[in-house]
Amino acid sequence: MAYVALYRKYRPSTFDEVIGQDHIIKTLRNQILQDKVSHAYLFCGTRGTGKTSTAKIFARAVNCPHAKENNGNPCGKCSVCATTGNANLDIIEMDAASNNGVDYARDIREKVQYPPVNGRYKVYIIDEVHMLSVGAFNALLKTLEEPPQHALFILCTTEVHKIPATILSRCMRFDFRLVPTQLLAEHVAHIYDAEGKAYSKEAVAAIAQAGEGSVRDAVSIADRCYSVSSGKLEYRDVLGVLGVSSKNSIVALAKAVLTNATADILTEINSLVSEGKDVSRLNKDLSLYLRDLLTAKVCPNANAMLMLPQDVFAALKELADGVTVKKLLYAIDKFVNIETALKYSLSPLMLFEATALRVACGTGEVDYDGLDKRVTRLEQLPHNLTAENRSVYVVDKTDPKSIWRGVKLSLDGRQDPLLVGVWESVKVSFNAEHSFTLKCTESTFWLIENKYKKILQTEIAKFFDGKVVIEQENVPSQSDIDKQLSQLGTNVKFDD
Ligand SMILES: [Zn+2]
Repeated sequence: MAYVALYRKYRPSTFDEVIGQDHIIKTLRNQILQDKVSHAYLFCGTRGTGKTSTAKIFARAVNCPHAKENNGNPCGKCSVCATTGNANLDIIEMDAASNNGVDYARDIREKVQYPPVNGRYKVYIIDEVHMLSVGAFNALLKTLEEPPQHALFILCTTEVHKIPATILSRCMRFDFRLVPTQLLAEHVAHIYDAEGKAYSKEAVAAIAQAGEGSVRDAVSIADRCYSVSSGKLEYRDVLGVLGVSSKNSIVALAKAVLTNATADILTEINSLVSEGKDVSRLNKDLSLYLRDLLTAKVCPNANAMLMLPQDVFAALKELADGVTVKKLLYAIDKFVNIETALKYSLSPLMLFEATALRVACGTGEVDYDGLDKRVTRLEQLPHNLTAENRSVYVVDKTDPKSIWRGVKLSLDGRQDPLLVGVWESVKVSFNAEHSFTLKCTESTFWLIENKYKKILQTEIAKFFDGKVVIEQENVPSQSDIDKQLSQLGTNVKFDD
């Protein structure tokens, strides 16, 4: 007899057998029990979480006359349930990845009008529905808007964000979650039990962990492990299948990063990459291992979660005990953060190496002393001092000199050399009419009139809301000076 892959052999055929999606199964089951089946469903979620399997079960359950007696499950015995695959004319499965054109969607629209052959519903299961072209979506939308009574659509997708809003609004949406590792482990153990395969608890846990929430992945790894060992399946056998050398190197790399052994970091990365390890994958494996370290560090019963063999866990714990929680969090943060960047980077290896070295040097602690020194240095920079003075200077609005200083401070940032001349040669006062008066020399008067009048007026208006007068100072003539001197009784002559 031909070998049947474990994944196909242990594919769920009833709702009871679907793993880890209780929230969805409960609703679907109730809809069948209460005869409240909708016309369109959208199943979304990561690959291998049971979307298509659930769609197939649901498709048979809606048509099985004994489903209600079986708590919503298809009975598996009646003529409807027994006819599988293409022989069942009422269940049409299609893959939008290969049939994404508008013609195909039009074809559905036409054929859906014919009533089902055996059951109550004609069910269309469209896998990877996000691959449909725009035209095909439009044609499908027309069908979803006015479906015949007997039509039932189950759209499955891993990329729900690519589905047009018009389609989304017509569907009852279900989000399939990643399956918890514990449930995956139980499932793998159940399969091995049924197959009569001996295994260690740790081996199964390692398989479940590698499945990363996907039943399909976990079972296909289990399948590969199955044939590796003739006797009892051990943890090390699983590592062999998953790539043991890389696992050890990841441990060595993590250790180098956490202990700031820079030379080792580059050596380990180099050896992993030259073995053909993808940098993104490497980054992910390292992040996962760091997370295990963090778990070992902070959880009192860590190994109940990690389920590692005692010696492996002891080594992990020892490494974790030598590092601070902050450092681990810092490292995880840095490596997880470059995940997306690695995908688009032209030189992912360099990015990864640089990150590893940066993490090695950093402590994850905020260096308060260093921070304090930097703040002090910034405060001492001249331009910041001016900024500080400007912000604390309070203008006394009854004092023209204070107003003038306010204007000067707020214009200081302009760094205009000609303005400096203005400050030096202007005398300010209130005149008899209480106007703010600027008295200046001829050249400054000319400068203000032609260049700075508007700016000065605007600035002065911030502190003083009366009139502003700009006038030339009377420069005493030589004869005036002579007259003053003679009044003082002196007879001094000045030579030029
Ligand atoms: Zn049946």
